[in-house]
Amino acid sequence: MTGRQTAVVAGGGIAGLAAAVALTQVGWQVTVLERAPAFEEVGAGLGFTGNGMAALHALGLEEAVRTAGHLAPHAGYQDRSGRWLLRIPERRPDTQATTTVCGIHRRRLHATLRQAAEAAGAELVTGAEVTAVLPGTPGGEPAAAMWQTSTGEHTGEAGLVVAADGVRSTVRTQLFPDARPRYAGSTSWRAVISDTSFAGRLVEVWGPGTEFGALRVSDGEVYWYGEFVHPEGASFADELASARAHFSGWAPWIRGIVAATPASQLMRHDVYHLPGGCPRYVRGRVVIIGDAAHAMLPTIGQGAATALEDGVCVGRMIAAPVSGGGDLAAALAAFDQARRPRCRQLARQASMLARFGFELGDGWRQSARNALLRRVPAGPALKAGASITRWTPPIAGATLLI
Ligand SMILES: Cc1cc2nc3c(=O)[nH]c(=O)nc-3n(C[C@H](O)[C@H](O)[C@H](O)COP(=O)(O)OP(=O)(O)OC[C@H]3O[C@@H](n4cnc5c(N)ncnc54)[C@H](O)[C@@H]3O)c2cc1C
Repeated sequence: MTGRQTAVVAGGGIAGLAAAVALTQVGWQVTVLERAPAFEEVGAGLGFTGNGMAALHALGLEEAVRTAGHLAPHAGYQDRSGRWLLRIPERRPDTQATTTVCGIHRRRLHATLRQAAEAAGAELVTGAEVTAVLPGTPGGEPAAAMWQTSTGEHTGEAGLVVAADGVRSTVRTQLFPDARPRYAGSTSWRAVISDTSFAGRLVEVWGPGTEFGALRVSDGEVYWYGEFVHPEGASFADELASARAHFSGWAPWIRGIVAATPASQLMRHDVYHLPGGCPRYVRGRVVIIGDAAHAMLPTIGQGAATALEDGVCVGRMIAAPVSGGGDLAAALAAFDQARRPRCRQLARQASMLARFGFELGDGWRQSARNALLRRVPAGPALKAGASITRWTPPIAGATLLI
């Protein structure tokens, strides 16, 4: 026995690795169990707003991610022909914190988190699928995780289990079976392409039942996505030809990006979310974070950012106070009370924006929405954005003082 506090993290994605970094930083002994046979996160790009950067700063990784990614202000929204619907003023010092987006290749963000977790002493186990947990009781029985590897079944006890196993979470399904992911009604093409000519600022474009977005993720790469309303489980014989056809009537700069995409770089995934989120983020000694707790529509680009926020809060609101002699039950309750309302609110905002944005059908709806949006000054829109992006990490161990 080392006497150190122990945690098992189910899932080595963005949320799980962020939590592992935060836990090890306050001295906890951490094991991350990842189902995939290797940490080879590929994916495409991601855009983070200031709250994601604040979380990375709290983890000591802001500089590394800035270097690996590309920072630029959000440019605004266009219609499919490339006319501005809402243009965000460039580089106003008072709005910069709200509008700055960090674009990064998902693989580089994941690698930065993984290296930090390893360097801090977390044990990362791949090919380890968590099959069940015993939640234990704060102040009583420890929690236990069961997992399967190529060598058989394993069980490990821990003071805390962090469930970060994504939208289809095994742990959440066991503990909260009524919280089920649902198809969002849309599927999304994504690619990172070599490019040096795109201006770099995030531009989002709305057309009938479709949203296109592009942002720079490094000096030589642009990430684009094209999400569109479609029945679940679509399959296209030729994905790239379908994407080109889908955007054929759109602005030349959009057609250019899609045309410059090699077939090997194009991926498409159906989009799932967790309507209403998990009813509670804690049960016994288990805390549920990231998409497992609150998978939201990607319309406001907050899934990864909130996963990072969660990771920081696991360290500062649970691990730090417990290390300082605080009560685990109180720390878990404080985490739930802080995180659930925020993530629910963000998920609601994401759903509202989807209805007003890319889910809107063709015809008069497009013209009415576009006419309305052209009259909206950027100020109120920025104010709404500030409520999302101006997130401050909790002070480590603050719950001890409450
Ligand atoms: C089209 C699209 C675009 C997006 N764009 C953005 C964006 O621009 N900005 C943004 O902030 N967010 C974006 N998101 C959301 C973001 O990708 C997710 O919210 C984020 O990846 C969630 O991280 P996570 O660690 O919770 O889950 P995941 O990334 O899903 O990681 C879960 C991990 O757990 C592992 N796992 C699963 N089950 C088990 C098990 N039983 N045992 C062990 N391991 C297991 C998985 O292999 C995986 O590694 C987007 C999402 C979509 C669909």
